[in-house]
Amino acid sequence: MTDPNTGIDGVDPGAPPSGTGCVECDAAGGWWFHLRRCAQCGHIGCCDSSPAQHATAHWTSTGHPLIQSFEPGEDWFWDYGANALYEAGPELAPPVSHPADQPTPGPADRLPPDWTSKLHS
Ligand SMILES: [Zn+2]
Ligand SMILES: [Zn+2]
Repeated sequence: MTDPNTGIDGVDPGAPPSGTGCVECDAAGGWWFHLRRCAQCGHIGCCDSSPAQHATAHWTSTGHPLIQSFEPGEDWFWDYGANALYEAGPELAPPVSHPADQPTPGPADRLPPDWTSKLHS
């Protein structure tokens, strides 16, 4: 699907986010550093610094090319297909970030004490 306003592929402005945490990490009891949202289906996945890198895995398995940061105050997009950053992308269905009072990294009760040593750089 192509966003009519921006001409960018991989966008469904009507798809709400799947939740407030990474879908696969929540299912597996994992934890994440930052969250990314698929612009096409609303899948929430964890960033490439996170141990499991589920946002990139979602692109690999589905071909959905565009993600937006799901961090409060961030609205940039990353296009995996074009390997390009978009500062100004399409407007997606709200909410556009996880709750401001949700900790980063998260979730707090699943975070190992040595989490900083487990990040990808
Ligand atoms: Zn994850
Ligand atoms: Zn998707």
